[in-house]
Amino acid sequence: MNDETIPAKPLPKMTPGAEHYWHSATREQFVLPHCTACDKVFFYPRVWCPQCLGQDLDWVHASGHGVVYSFSVVHQAPFPAYRGDVPYVLAVIELAEGPRMMANVLHCDPATVRVGMPVEVTFEDRGEIKIPQFQPVHS
Ligand SMILES: [Zn+2]
Repeated sequence: MNDETIPAKPLPKMTPGAEHYWHSATREQFVLPHCTACDKVFFYPRVWCPQCLGQDLDWVHASGHGVVYSFSVVHQAPFPAYRGDVPYVLAVIELAEGPRMMANVLHCDPATVRVGMPVEVTFEDRGEIKIPQFQPVHS
């Protein structure tokens, strides 16, 4: 038995251009930055477009759908806060809108995750903030 208290997981840093992303996620809205000059959406959020370097950006409400592009099953917790989660899935998700992002695939047996598997966004509550994560789509 282990009655050690598991420390809290880290919170994201509020990097320039990402504040709206995290505030939206905390309201369980999944948004992506959009460049009004070249009409691309991208990830991660930043203050300029990685396609054309434009700085005239707005936000779009993303579908929250995507597929597993690549993944790994983590068996050794990188920090004590993750001890209760192993094994867990760290994945690159290819969003329906095109960008790829890293996230965990939650609410499933890690052994069932496959490349190409359809997933949808879910929000992991970390107290003062919520983190966009993904889960299998159940039809
Ligand atoms: Zn652009």
